[in-house]
Amino acid sequence: MNWLSDELARLEQAHLYRRRLVLDSPQGAEVVVDGRRLLSFCSNDYLGLANDSRVIAALQRGAGQYGVGSGASHLVTGHCRAHHALEEELADFVGARRALLFSTGFMANLGVVMALAERHSLIAEDRLNHASLIDAARLARARTRRYPHADVGALRRQLGPEQRLSLILTDAVFSMDGDVAPLEALAALAREHGAWLLADDAHGLGVRGPQGRGSLAAAGLAPAGELILMGTLGKAFGVFGAFVAGDADLVELLIQRARSYIYTTALPAAVAEAVRAALAVVRAEGWRRERLRELIARFRAGAAQLGFTLTESETPIQPLLVGEASAALALADGLRARGFLVPAIRPPTVPAGSARLRVSFSAAHSPDQVDRLLRALAEIAKAVT
Ligand SMILES: *Cc1c(COP(=O)(O)O)cnc(C)c1O
Repeated sequence: MNWLSDELARLEQAHLYRRRLVLDSPQGAEVVVDGRRLLSFCSNDYLGLANDSRVIAALQRGAGQYGVGSGASHLVTGHCRAHHALEEELADFVGARRALLFSTGFMANLGVVMALAERHSLIAEDRLNHASLIDAARLARARTRRYPHADVGALRRQLGPEQRLSLILTDAVFSMDGDVAPLEALAALAREHGAWLLADDAHGLGVRGPQGRGSLAAAGLAPAGELILMGTLGKAFGVFGAFVAGDADLVELLIQRARSYIYTTALPAAVAEAVRAALAVVRAEGWRRERLRELIARFRAGAAQLGFTLTESETPIQPLLVGEASAALALADGLRARGFLVPAIRPPTVPAGSARLRVSFSAAHSPDQVDRLLRALAEIAKAVT
């Protein structure tokens, strides 16, 4: 068993060792870590709903009505009226015929890909896709092409004339870069091949498109025909869970075949009630998206002026590219010492040599808090370089 300690020592030396923070507070612009109040720029709670009083009240009411545990999988007795209503509301929200709840986004991606692909399928996926899409293709044991980031032309050139794609997988908003996928071009390619396109909109749903309907809506597309949307409920929605939206037959097939749907306990119904409350807020309170846009523009202008390298991102994910893991850690530590929580993202989460600070914004932040972060970055950049 010595290899365990060897491996841990190697990770430590390579600046790749990961440690968890222990929070004593809800998510919010400020969090409490080890008794210390820090200004947080790291959560995916983009709309500031994870600690919203209306969402909390819905969870409490849901627990009163349905209890805590759902007791069984959806196909046994775990599927309650609350789940069913939420699926209908989500389908309506994203403009799909049907939606199907999963316990997590990771499981939703595994479920879709394993239900639609097999050994003889050909899957294409973006090099920078989320780990759950990469693992999904591996688990399906399908042949897989990973194409250069967002480069549909390169994917076309990779394909031989007789090769037909079964499934294209992409993050709609890339989780470590914040840029968006070329969904229209990918949808056109999928149509030519008679293939499915699975768009993972974990970071776009609630944030992008009219009323926050997500990245497909922002691109003028809808989850129908060959287009499949995966949305998560633990990020902008501030709660927990995920769903897949598309045509009725697709959803029925997933109910029959998706192993990560069938063989797991249903999400608690109270959580579904909390998501329903969050959905109402997402739809109604456009000012949250407006506030985000202002904060993002303010940060980008300030960071560019300080000489930081930004990505092509208009989303709440605003990485500052640093390069080496050790340099990213030094910046993150410097910020932490000044009372700011910003994670350093290192390989293997991102490619070697592209370590970064992943700054993310929430409608819960104020412009003044963004300015404070910029001032701290200016000080640290001077100290580190
Ligand atoms: C967070 C994330 C997931 C996983 O969703 P969970 O509900 O947290 O399991 C999937 N895809 C992307 C792009 C994500 O960022």
